[in-house]
Formats: sequence, structure tokens, C-alpha cells
Amino acid sequence: MEIYNCHIHTFTTDHVPDKFIGYGVDNLLRIAPIRGIVSFILKNVLPFSDRDLLDRYMRFLEIASKSNQKKVLKVVMGYYPEDTKFVILPMDMEHAGMGHVSHKIDEQHDELACLCKKPKYQGKLFPFVAVDPRRDGILEMTINLIENEGFRGIKIYPALGYFPQDPRLDPVYEYAVANNLPVMTHCSRGGVYTKGSINEEIKKHPHAPLNPGRFKNKYLTDYFSDPFNYKKVFEKFPDLKICLAHFGGDEEWEKYLDEPWDPDTSTDWDMSWLSKIRDMIKSGDYPNLYTDISYTILSMDDSMHILNIFMEDPDLAPKIMFGTDFYMVEREKMKERRLPMKLRSVIGEEKFKKIAEINPKRYLNIP
Ligand SMILES: [Zn+2]
Repeated sequence: MEIYNCHIHTFTTDHVPDKFIGYGVDNLLRIAPIRGIVSFILKNVLPFSDRDLLDRYMRFLEIASKSNQKKVLKVVMGYYPEDTKFVILPMDMEHAGMGHVSHKIDEQHDELACLCKKPKYQGKLFPFVAVDPRRDGILEMTINLIENEGFRGIKIYPALGYFPQDPRLDPVYEYAVANNLPVMTHCSRGGVYTKGSINEEIKKHPHAPLNPGRFKNKYLTDYFSDPFNYKKVFEKFPDLKICLAHFGGDEEWEKYLDEPWDPDTSTDWDMSWLSKIRDMIKSGDYPNLYTDISYTILSMDDSMHILNIFMEDPDLAPKIMFGTDFYMVEREKMKERRLPMKLRSVIGEEKFKKIAEINPKRYLNIP
């Protein structure tokens, strides 16, 4: 079996804005000796209960602080069999109101293009183009990276402050359809979110009126990332291939399991994102819609059993893909190598082959 990990990140702290965490700690934590001291204090001195979580956060920073993307890639590759393939998702955070980014998106892309060309990595890497509708020249950038630099798809991250149906993305979607290129989008609540100003344009949500009590940036991600936004995208581009990453996210899986659904009082807005994505796939109206289990599968105890049941569904089984969200998952307890091992044993080889090889190949357009 050839494994495709459809969702990893290799960007480093050089690609992260300087006010990502804020409170003036970003620059401090980028200095390795200071990180070392903080890490030592966390491990040895402070006995508080959240130490575990902070430990994992430091591990996350440890990887993000590597000097280049090749070093990050080497870590994740070391966990997998040699012929494993990786979809690499860069991030363009320059427009998210989190300050200055020292290494621009072009540099982040160029580094990935160089890696693709190395004989050692040939055929193993599937980098996507990070696109933000607020950046000028995204179509030209996409065409160049796809046609000349070995890029294989398009990545968007609406939580950074835009809707996926933003018309400025239309030319890129059009190009993706014409060339059968897959789109990957972040689709769980939270994640990295915009710290930019909340303007009138943002308040005009196409599905639900923004609740004035929820104008905090943290909650805006719910509006930007809502799975139902993609109905609007599919209305215009029914042939666009889109993967809604994280299958709604672990919190929404918990909600699906624990909160009863009342058809009399519940609205679209109350629906768990797992249900939204599942219903969209099962409706048959969106034959090019995919989802991946990255992050969600690692952060929740029951997730593998639920996935096992979903994989019995003939509508869902061809649409779910394996991915981990490396190195974001370094914050979680289950480590990168343990996950696929455990997952294979829970869902069985046949289902694992579907999510890790057959479905990704169809999504990535590999014969
Ligand atoms: Zn991710």
C-alpha cells in the first residue's frame, strides 16, 4: 500500500507573523535558548495541571522553529515508510492582521519548489499553492507554480479573514476546474484566525446574520469556515474539487455525539459541522466534495470508531481521506507514527487503503 498523508505543514516561524501569539512573546520564543529555558521550567519546576498541554505546545514550537522547511519535512518523513507521499500546505498569513511576516509567501513557495526538484523527493511531495483573495496577482502566481514548479493544488484558509465564496477567488477556481486541480480548505472552528479589523464587508454573511455578541475575531472564524459557505462556491463551480479539511473538527464531532437534534427548534446554524459535511456529501449534489480526518482523528478518543462506522457508508467511503495535520498535532498526545498504526488496526487494512491511497489518488488526479 502506498500511503498518502493528505494534510501536512512544513512552514516555519519565519513564515508566521510577528504578532501571532501577541503580548510580545513571539520574538522571545523564537530564540532557542529562551525556548529551552521556558521548556525546562515547564517540565521541571511548574507542577500545574496544564503542564502537559504547554509541553506539547513547546514541542510544536520546537518544530516550527527549525531553520527551513526541509528540516521540518525530514521529521515527518521519518515517521512513515519510504514511499509515502505528502500533500504540503503552505500558509499565507500576511493579510491576517497579525503583524509583519519576515519570509514572504513567494519564499515559502520557492523553498517547496526547490524541494520538489530534488531527486530524493521526486514524486513524493504534493505542495499546494497558498492563495488569499486579498493578495494581488494570485492567478498568475498559481499558474506559474502549477505549470513550472511542480505544485499540485490550491490551499485556502478562510479563517484568516475572508469567505471562500469571495469573488476575487473566482479566477483561481476557474483555473482549478479547467486543469482538474484539487482545492484544500481549513474547515473546523478555530485554528489560526484573523486579528484584523471587523469591517462591514465581513459582517455581510451569506447564510446567517452575524450575531453582534459574537463580533470577537475568535468567533468570526465560525462564519468564514462554515461548511455551508461551500454551497455558494459549488453553485458557481459545480466541477471544482474541494476537500473540507478536518471533517468539521473534533469539537463538532463531540457535538454530533452528545447534543440531541430537535427538528422543531434547531437551525442550520446549530447543526454540527460533521453533520453539515456528511449531509452535503450524502446529498449527491456535490460529487466533487471531499473531507479529511486530519487533526480530528488524533485529538479525540472515539474518533477512530466513528470513522470506522462512516466508512461502511457507500456515499462517505469514497470521500474521506487520511491526513494528520503534522506538525499542528504535535500539541496532541498521539504521535505521528502511532496514529496510522492504531488507525489501521481499528478500521482495518481495506478501509485504510481507501482513505490513505485510493481516495487521495482520485482527489489528486493520479491515474
Ligand atoms: Zn492544517
